[in-house]
Amino acid sequence: MTPDPLNRLVAQLAKLPGIGEKTAQRLAFHILRASGDYAVELAQAIREVKEKVHLCTRCYSLTDSDLCGFCRDTRRDERSLCVVETFADLMALEKTREYKGRYHVLHGVLSPLEGIGPDQLRIKELLERLTDSRVEEIILATNPDVEGEATALYLTRLLKPLGLRVSRIAQGLPMGGDLEYADQATLAKALSARREL
Ligand SMILES: [Zn+2]
Repeated sequence: MTPDPLNRLVAQLAKLPGIGEKTAQRLAFHILRASGDYAVELAQAIREVKEKVHLCTRCYSLTDSDLCGFCRDTRRDERSLCVVETFADLMALEKTREYKGRYHVLHGVLSPLEGIGPDQLRIKELLERLTDSRVEEIILATNPDVEGEATALYLTRLLKPLGLRVSRIAQGLPMGGDLEYADQATLAKALSARREL
C-alpha cells in the first residue's frame, strides 16, 4: 500500500502537461528523497507563483509588481508595439534579441468555434492604451494559423483608421506554426522581414 500523501502528490504531478503516471511517480519519489529543504522550497515556489504573479496593468504580460519589466524599462522604444497571443510567444520573441519595443499580450485569439470574440481578448485595453500614446507602429505577431491570421486582420481593420503603421510578421514562419516553438533565427527573420499591411 502506498501512503496517501504520496498518492496525492503523484496524482497532482500527473495532472501536469506531458507528465504521465510513471513520470509522476518518479518525480514524487525524487521529491521525497531529495536532501535539505528542496521539497519545502518547491512547495513555496509553487505557492508564490500563484500568489504574487499577475498581469501587468499596461501590457498584460506577467509581473510581480504593478508594471512589468518591459513596461518599466525606459530604454525600450515606446514607438513600437508588438501584439502577441500569449506570454510564451512574448518570451520567444524576446529570446531573439531583435525586438526592442513594447508588447501587448492578447491572451488568446479570435475563435468563433470556441466562443472567443474580441471581448474575451485584451483588445479594448489595447485601444485604450493607444489613445494618448507615442506608438507609431504596431507589429501583429499572432501565430501564422487560421485564427492568428483572422485576429491580425481584425486588428488591422481597427488600427489602420487610427493612422498607425500596422505590420505583420509571418514570412519565414511555416503556416500553422507556433511562435512559441519556432527557432530563434526563424523568428528573428520573421520579425525583421515584417510586411506593412
Ligand atoms: Zn507590461
